[in-house]
Amino acid sequence: MNSSLDRAATYFWRATLLRCPECGTKPIFVPWLQVRSLRDWFTPLDGCPRCGYAYEREIGYFLLSIWAVNYGMGSILGITIYVVLEMTMTLSLPVLLISVISPIIFFNFLFARHSKAYFLAFDHYFDPHIRENGDDGGNKILNHPPQIPPRPQGSPTPSPTAGVR
Ligand SMILES: [Zn+2]
Repeated sequence: MNSSLDRAATYFWRATLLRCPECGTKPIFVPWLQVRSLRDWFTPLDGCPRCGYAYEREIGYFLLSIWAVNYGMGSILGITIYVVLEMTMTLSLPVLLISVISPIIFFNFLFARHSKAYFLAFDHYFDPHIRENGDDGGNKILNHPPQIPPRPQGSPTPSPTAGVR
């Protein structure tokens, strides 16, 4: 399989499992059995405890995931339900509205986490934010030690006790 397709499939699957897009082992959200508030349900954790990947890159980062992904999918669901009901049944307008809108609200609540996870995976695929030397836009700590420039020839070696009295 093509490596970029492979990578996209990996990120998609990790998002489906609500796991970190980078390492795929740790959750993006509080596990659903430990959810105690709406904030727990909707708000991603600060970052991955294993690899340090920050889930929310900046304030308002997930706004597009809410408007485009979650509401977009909700709209598609609503249109589908409307078309099916309109073609198969004769309903009054209030019943039709309730039949179309109530599943959308329920769906948007349940899909909120996945919309953020899919958005994160999408963004990580097209714009991986892994810290490079001199770049503070990323947040991933690299495993190799920082590079120290070589000392010029003939310069005195500082004593380990220099400056200590
Ligand atoms: Zn991770």
